[in-house]
Amino acid sequence: MISQDLLRDKFRGALLGCFLGDAFGAGFEGMHPDRATFHMSGLDSPSVHHFVPKKFSRNYTDDTDMTLALAESIVQTGGVDPEDIAKQFSLHCDLTRGYAIGTIKAVLALRAGLKWHQVARMVFENGSFGNGAAMRVSPVGLFYHHDLDKIQEEAIKQASITHVHPLGQWGAVMQACSVGLAVNQNPKETFKKGQMVTNLREILWRGPIEYMRALNKIEEMFVRGKKPEAREVVQSLGNGVEAHFSAPSASYIAITYSPDFCDAIRAAVSLGGDTDTIAGMVGAIVGAHVGEKGLPIEWVEQLEDGPRGRSFARSMADRLYQTWWKTYQSPSE
Ligand SMILES: [Mg+2]
Repeated sequence: MISQDLLRDKFRGALLGCFLGDAFGAGFEGMHPDRATFHMSGLDSPSVHHFVPKKFSRNYTDDTDMTLALAESIVQTGGVDPEDIAKQFSLHCDLTRGYAIGTIKAVLALRAGLKWHQVARMVFENGSFGNGAAMRVSPVGLFYHHDLDKIQEEAIKQASITHVHPLGQWGAVMQACSVGLAVNQNPKETFKKGQMVTNLREILWRGPIEYMRALNKIEEMFVRGKKPEAREVVQSLGNGVEAHFSAPSASYIAITYSPDFCDAIRAAVSLGGDTDTIAGMVGAIVGAHVGEKGLPIEWVEQLEDGPRGRSFARSMADRLYQTWWKTYQSPSE
C-alpha cells in the first residue's frame, strides 16, 4: 500500500520528470546515436548529478505543453473527456514550443471552431501514427494507476483527438501503462523486468502486432543481461517520431535504468533521433517510479519557472493527485 505522501510525490515526479527529460532532450533532437552518445559520454563522472550539460535548454517543448493541458482537463472534468481536452489544447497550447506541423494545423482548426472528431482525420486521412498521443499521456497513467484496463481505454480515448491510427493510439497505451506500473513500484527497488514485460503484454496483445514484437525484443535484451549500446537499441526498437519506434524505446530505457533518473535520461538522449519526446517519456516513467524526491534537484532548479513553468507543473501534479483521491479514495464516495 502506497502512502498518500509518496503517491503525491510520484505524481509530481512524473510531471516534473517529463518536463526535465523534454527540456534536457530538446538540445539533442535529430542527432545520430553516435553523436548523441558522444555528447552524453562527458557526463560519466561521479559528480554527474551536479553537472548540467551546455545543451540543456531549460525550456520545455510541445511534449510537456500538451501533458499539462491534458492534466488540466482531467482535473476539470474528473476523467478523460475528449471535448474538454480539445478545449484545453485550444486554450493552452503554445504553438511556439516546437510543435509538429500536423499538430499546429489541428490546434488551429480547434481554435477555428471545428469539433475534435473532425480534426483527427483532417491532417492525416488514415490517422497519424506519430508519437504525439504517447508523449502527452502520462496524466492518464497517473490518474488510473490502480487499473491497467482503464488506462488502456482512457489512453486511446485521449489519443483519438489527434491520432486515429491504431499505432499512434497504442503507443499512448504502452506509455500510459508504463507510467501506471511505475507508480505501483517501490521507489527504492529496481523494476522487476520480467514482471513489467508480462504486465505490458497482458494489455498490448490487444493492439497492433508491432508492440508485441517490440516487447519480444525488449525481453531478449533483458535476457542477454549486458546493457546494449545506444546504436543497438536504436536498431532493435527505433528512435523516430513514429509511436511504435519511440514508445517501446522509452519503456525499455526507463525499466532498465530506473531508479537512477540521471542515467535513464542520459541513456534516452544517447539514442538520438526524437530526443525530447523519448527523454520526456522516460522522465515521466522514471519520475512516476522515484517521485520528485528521486529527481536531481540541481537539474530541476534549472528549469524555466514562468507562468506555466516548474512551479505550475508541480501544483498541477498536486491538483491531479487531489482529483484522483476525491474520485477514488474519498470516504464520502
Ligand atoms: Mg517536443
